Amino acid sequence: MVRIADHKWEPDEIMSLNTASLLEAMARAVIANTTELTALDSAIGDADHGLNMKRGFEAALSERAEILAHSLPDAAKALGYTLVMKIGGASGPLYGTLFMTLGKELKVDPSVADLGRSLLAAGEAVSSRGRAAPGCKTILDVLVPVAVHVASGTATIASVRQLAARSAQATIPMKALRGRASYLGDRSIGHMDPGARSCELLIDAVCDVLEQAP
Ligand code: ADP
Ligand code: MG
Repeated sequence: MVRIADHKWEPDEIMSLNTASLLEAMARAVIANTTELTALDSAIGDADHGLNMKRGFEAALSERAEILAHSLPDAAKALGYTLVMKIGGASGPLYGTLFMTLGKELKVDPSVADLGRSLLAAGEAVSSRGRAAPGCKTILDVLVPVAVHVASGTATIASVRQLAARSAQATIPMKALRGRASYLGDRSIGHMDPGARSCELLIDAVCDVLEQAP
């Protein structure tokens, strides 16, 4: 069981993920940070990322009972489906792909290695869906390094949190090569990518749940 921030996740350790806590923590994190995400998107996009994500996760909360009626993998798929339907924009299909891929790849009670593999697969799927790679100033700039780190078998909750935060920060000097921000060219430099930040918030929320696991 994962309890403390500096606990090293052994690859064969079973994570005992609580689906209800995960869903609620992710939704809370997104909804609480709507204004910040929208402000980031107003600098290099169309000022709707916070609202898009809020709409998606509010829908997930209102469909909570249906989503949580499933096992972890099927709940992840159901969440992905809700997000595709409700978020809209560029990020809806991308976050939808992320969670649907996790749903396809995760086992009912995954080990740390299973989670790492599933996150890597989600990174691949989001990358091919959006024809983007790390370095393009997108969600992938947080998702991929965190996936690689978890899959490496050397992660702790603290190191995952730090890497997610550092990776979101690292999008500030990048020039956007995909999505709406890419229309700005060099003017996209100097701002954090909103999708990278929302991905960090989701990862942080998952870390909160892991830290509080009984
Ligand atoms: P829209 O750009 O349609 O208004 P959002 O504002 O909700 O949609 O989401 C913008 C975020 O989506 C960006 O900050 C970026 O992280 C992410 N994004 C956009 N295009 C791509 C892509 N091709 N691949 C990965 N992520 C992308
Ligand atoms: Mg936008």
